Amino acid sequence: MNKIEHIGIAVNDLQQAGNIYEKLLNTAVYKIEEVLSEGVKTAFLGVGTNKIELLEASTPDSPIAKFIAKKGEGVHHIAFEVSDIRAEMQRLKDEGFVLLNGEPKLGADNKLVCFVHPKSANGVLIELCQEVNRD
Ligand code: ZN
Repeated sequence: MNKIEHIGIAVNDLQQAGNIYEKLLNTAVYKIEEVLSEGVKTAFLGVGTNKIELLEASTPDSPIAKFIAKKGEGVHHIAFEVSDIRAEMQRLKDEGFVLLNGEPKLGADNKLVCFVHPKSANGVLIELCQEVNRD
C-alpha cells in the first residue's frame, strides 16, 4: 500500500456538503462525477497529496443510502493507493481478509477499485485503488 489516497464521506446533499468542505479546507471542489454502477454521485476536494471524496446516493438502493439510513452521515471508507491492485487483492485474500469484489472494478476518479469488508478491518470499509493508465 502506498498511501492514503482519499477518505470517503457519506452525505445527504452533495451540494450542501461541497460548500461546507470548500470552506473547511479552503479549496474548491475540483471534480463532480457520477458512478452509475455504485449508485453514487461524488465530489472531490484536494488536501495536500490526499483527497476527500464526498458521496451522495443517486438511487434509493445505493450502498450510500443504506449506510446513511443505518449510521447517518459520516466517514464511509478509507482508500489506499496501491500499485498493483490484483497482487494486493491476492495478498489480502491469503491473509484472510474478505473482499467485496472478486475482480477490480472501475470506480470514480479514473481508478480501478476493490473494497474490503468492514468486518475484516475492525469496522472500517477499506478501498484499494489503482490509477488506470490513461495511455
Ligand atoms: Zn472512495
